[in-house]
Amino acid sequence: MNKTQSYYDLLEALALPGCPICRLLATFTDRLLDGLIYEQINDGGLRARIRQARGFCPEHARQLVRHGAALGVAIMMRDVLNALLEALEGARFRPVSRLSREGLRAALTSAPSPATAEAVARLGAQKPCPVCERTREVEEMLLHVLVERLNDPELAAKFRASEGLCLPHLRGTLRLITREEDYETLVRAQGAIWRDLLAQLSEAIRKSDYRFLDEGLGEEGKAWLRALGVIAGAQEDLRTRRG
Ligand SMILES: [Zn+2]
Ligand SMILES: [Zn+2]
Repeated sequence: MNKTQSYYDLLEALALPGCPICRLLATFTDRLLDGLIYEQINDGGLRARIRQARGFCPEHARQLVRHGAALGVAIMMRDVLNALLEALEGARFRPVSRLSREGLRAALTSAPSPATAEAVARLGAQKPCPVCERTREVEEMLLHVLVERLNDPELAAKFRASEGLCLPHLRGTLRLITREEDYETLVRAQGAIWRDLLAQLSEAIRKSDYRFLDEGLGEEGKAWLRALGVIAGAQEDLRTRRG
């Protein structure tokens, strides 16, 4: 993914529902996970990295459960389990008096007992989840591209017509802005998008009153899901999420 391509990807994602950054990241992660399973499974460096991370974070572990993943995941998890066994059996128990200074400190805080601290540390992740790490790099690049192009007429128009950024990505974009005109453009566009969503929520709430039951819900019927997603920063569009 390079910057020019990312710009076109952003334009495309802005025309679709939900936060464009979340959408592009979801697609990126999806391809990355497929790549792990089907192509990069024999990459020794990558497998070492997965061992150091002690596998994947819960979110990406869940996403690895997909069609055709059985062999690739089995190979990766065999590696990780071997590393965990080595860590588990390589650590020593250190007898410490519970009344010693370190023993008391551990009892009073959530720090591991000094007797087992080595095992706790060795079993823990030595590096972050590799999928999280790559996804964060792409996220950073997308946010930079968005900030650089905020005042491009085409992007600005598409942004105004879009569902806007989720809260975490709005804050992530604001964090990178240094020019006042970019700040004004973003705040104005996102403000208008939130006001629309607010009006739809109010309309949905009004119509749910028994006196208006026969009016039925239109576009605003899904406003609650849209609001939930854009405020939480769901990586997937909640409206299409299953299970
Ligand atoms: Zn987002
Ligand atoms: Zn992860």
